[in-house]
Parts: sequence; C-alpha cells; structure tokens
Amino acid sequence: MNCIGDRIEQLKTNIPNNVRLVAVSKFHEVSKVLDAYNVGQKVFGESRVQEFLVKYKQLPKDIEWHFIGHLQRNKVKDIIPTNAIIESVDSQRLLDEILREAEKKQKRIRCFLQIYIASEETKYGLSLSDCEKIISSPRYAESPFIEIGGIMGMATNTDDKEKVRSEFKELKNIFDYLKSKYFSQKEYFSDISMGMSQDFELAIEEGSTNIRIGSLIFGDRN
Ligand SMILES: *Cc1c(COP(=O)(O)O)cnc(C)c1O
Repeated sequence: MNCIGDRIEQLKTNIPNNVRLVAVSKFHEVSKVLDAYNVGQKVFGESRVQEFLVKYKQLPKDIEWHFIGHLQRNKVKDIIPTNAIIESVDSQRLLDEILREAEKKQKRIRCFLQIYIASEETKYGLSLSDCEKIISSPRYAESPFIEIGGIMGMATNTDDKEKVRSEFKELKNIFDYLKSKYFSQKEYFSDISMGMSQDFELAIEEGSTNIRIGSLIFGDRN
C-alpha cells in the first residue's frame, strides 16, 4: 500500500464511525488523490475553484466533493454542476447566488454556514445573528434547491489548546441552539464541520461530525 493510503487507514481507525473524514487535496496532484481513492476514500475537499474543476473532470464520479474555500459569487455557476457540498457559505449574497444557480440547474445543493469563531482578522464567516437572519428567511427554508446541512468553522491557528477547545465548544453550542430553534424536525441539519490536521482530535472531543484533513494525509503543501 502507498503511504497516503497508510495515513488514511490509520486516521480511520482513530476516528469514530459517525465522523466523516474529508481528505483535503488542495495543491496536491490528481495521482495523490487517486492513491487515497484506491484505499476507499471517497470524500475530498478543495478550496480553489479552478483547481477543483480540473480535478473534478479527471477523477471518478462517485467522489463526494466538499468545497471549503472562499467562493466568489461569479464562480458559483461553475460549482453547481459538480454537486459539491458547499461548506463555506460566508455571506447571504453568496447563498442567494447558489440558490439562483441551483434553481436554474434544478439541483438541491447542500450548504454549511461558515461561522466566524477564531480571533483572527483574516478568516471569513458569519456571526450567529447573520446565520439566524438567513435561517429564518423562508426564501431558503422553503426552497427545494438549498439544503442548509450544518455549520462550519475554523479555530484560531495557535498552540493554545484551551483556546482552540473553547472555540470548538462555541461552535457546538451554536449548532445545538440553531438545531433546537429552527431545525428540530429537519434531519438534514446534522453537520458540525470542525477540525483540521492540527486540531481534529480536540474537534472530535467537542462534537465534530466532519473533519477536514489535508497535510496529515497528503504532506506539506508547496
Ligand atoms: C486547507 C484547509 C484545511 C486542511 O488543512 P490542514 O491543516 O492541511 O489539515 C481544512 N479546512 C479548510 C477550510 C482549509 O482551507
């Protein structure tokens, strides 16, 4: 077996069955994605539209793709045909564009609301009140073309484990609050996407259902 395959198998033995492993293949070649695919990994994440579309065309069609990067509205029309789950919805205007394009193509697109939890200026994301505004609007709630499947967040990039843990706790609390207030009857609202190579163990302890692992599987990105 190849070493990417070994790392995936090892991760899979260490994470609970109810946690989805998204293998983040950004900046890595198609051949490496195939190494992972060939040991049974079927869920991959990409963060740049051009790179994603090139890989999408070349790789097997039973891959479940997660788009995890900042998405510009003018690129939405290129993403919709791939059926990717869009984890990084960071504005209402972006969601409007997804809705418009999904309706045109008659697709139901699963989206996560990206919530800002880190104490870093550069990270994209919504506040809790932004989320509530979106969720309580019938425009999305009653649309057959959008499925708000959960939330996504990134912790601060720091060695301070307690800080990271408290940010993950905050995200879990937000999820529980939104679930009980808006989605108690909606099974599709089910995902808390949190945890990357550096912090996925903490994220799982705090309730993650969807971890996004890049460098731990594929090695450093150039
Ligand atoms: C790149 C990226 C990851 C993966 O990061 P690693 O530290 O390599 O595991 C996860 N989530 C998002 C949003 C990313 O952009």
